[in-house]
Amino acid sequence: MNAYVASVIENVKKKYGHEPEFVQTVEEVLSSIAPMVDKHPEYEKADLLNRMVEPERMFTFRVVWTDDNGQAHTNTGYRCQFNGAIGPYKGGLRFQPNVTPSIMKFLGFEQTFKNSLTGLPMGGAKGGSDFDPAGKSDAEIMRFCQSFMTALYRYIGPDIDVPAGDMGVGGREIGYLYGQYRRLKGVWENGVLTGKGFTYGGSLIRPEATGYGAIYYLQEVLKHEGDSIEGKRIAISGYGNVGWGIMKKAAELGAKVTYFAGPDGYIHDPDGVVGEKLDYILEMRAKDPMHCKPYADKYGVEFVPNAKCWGVKDVDIYMPAATQNDVRMESAEKIAASGVKYYIEVANMPTTNDALEFLRSQKHMIVAPSKAVNAGGVAVSGLEMSQNSERLVWTAEEVDEKLKGIMKVIHQMSVDAAEEYGLGYDLVSGANLAGFKKVATAMMEQGLF
Ligand code: GLU
Repeated sequence: MNAYVASVIENVKKKYGHEPEFVQTVEEVLSSIAPMVDKHPEYEKADLLNRMVEPERMFTFRVVWTDDNGQAHTNTGYRCQFNGAIGPYKGGLRFQPNVTPSIMKFLGFEQTFKNSLTGLPMGGAKGGSDFDPAGKSDAEIMRFCQSFMTALYRYIGPDIDVPAGDMGVGGREIGYLYGQYRRLKGVWENGVLTGKGFTYGGSLIRPEATGYGAIYYLQEVLKHEGDSIEGKRIAISGYGNVGWGIMKKAAELGAKVTYFAGPDGYIHDPDGVVGEKLDYILEMRAKDPMHCKPYADKYGVEFVPNAKCWGVKDVDIYMPAATQNDVRMESAEKIAASGVKYYIEVANMPTTNDALEFLRSQKHMIVAPSKAVNAGGVAVSGLEMSQNSERLVWTAEEVDEKLKGIMKVIHQMSVDAAEEYGLGYDLVSGANLAGFKKVATAMMEQGLF
C-alpha cells in the first residue's frame, strides 16, 4: 500500500485507538483510495490525508431536561462538523444511549464522502446525544429537543450547518428542534434543518428517500448484471424508516421483502411484506420499536427469536439496514455459503472490515457499499434545502424523479472511478474513490487549513 496512506492509518490508530468505529472507517476508506494517492504525490506535500481525518470542528454540550415527575436529567450533546470543503456541514442527529465521540466521528467521516457522491454541495457532519428516547413521553421528548437546540442553535444555520434525523430522530423531533430554533432566533430560516414536516418546508418523499434510493441503486446493479428486480426476494435487517422504505418500494416494483430482522429475532414471511402489512409495520413500530414478533402473531408466519436472518438461502438479495457492525465475520461466512449473489449495504457501516473484505473476495458475489446505497436520504435533504432557499415546493413526482437520477449517477460514478483504476466492477472502491476525489480537489484548491 502507498506509504503515505499507511502512515496516516497508523497515526489514526495510535492517536484514536480508543475510538474503534472511527479507526474502522478510516482504514476502510483510506485503503480504498490508496491508488489515487499513488497518482497524486502533491497530496502528501499538503498533508491532505491527515487533514482529512481530523474533523474541522467537534464539540460537546450539556443537555439538561426534566422528566414528567420533575426530575432533572443530564445528557451529552455532540456536533461533529467534519468537513466543509464542498458545502455547508450536513448530516443527521442520532439520539441513542450508545452514542460516543467515536460513533459521531465515524458517521461524520462517512457522511463527508456520501454527501460528495450525491453531487450536491453539502459538507459532512453528524451529531446527536446519548439520550435514550425509548419509553419517553411526548412532553419529555419535546423538552429534551428544546434543551438540545438551545445549546446548538448558535453553531448551525442554512449556510453553516444543516442537521437532520438519524436513529432516534424523526419528524417529531425535527419539529420540536425547529420550533425552538425559530423561537430563539426570531427568523424564518427553515433551511437550517431537513426532514421537516410538509407544512413548514419539508420535502415530499424525504421520509422514504433512503429506502427508495437504496432500491433505485439496487436496480442499477441488477441492470448491470443483465437482471431485473421483478420477482426478487429480499432479506433485510431493520424495519425503521429505511427498512420500511425498502419494503414499500420493493413491493411497488414487483419484488418483496420476505425476511426482516429486529432486535428480538427475525420474521420469515414467504408472501412478502406487501399491501396492508406495510401499514401494520408502522403501527407495530409506534407501539413498541424493540419487538417484531407481533407481526408473526398477526399474520401466522414464522418468527425465530434472538437470531439474525443472515445465511437464509431462499432469497436473492441481502440488505443490512439496521445499524453499524450488524454483519460480523460469523454472519458473513453464512452469507457467502448461502450462494446469494447480492449483498447491498444500507445502514451506515453495517459490516465489520474483515467481514466486508471477506464478502468482497467471494467470486460469486456483488457487494455494494452503504455510503453510495443510502445516499438517497441525504440527497433528498439537499433537495429540501434547495426548495427552502428558492421558496418553492416540488411535487412528489418531481422529487422522486430527481432522486432516481441521482442514484443512477452515483452508481455510474462509482463504476467509472473503479474502472479508471483498473479495478473492474468494484462498487466499494469506486464509491470511495469518487466521493474522495471531489472533497480532495476542493481542499487542495482552498489552501492549507
Ligand atoms: N442521517 C442520514 C444519513 O445517514 C441523513 C442525513 C441528512 O439528511 O442530513 O445520511
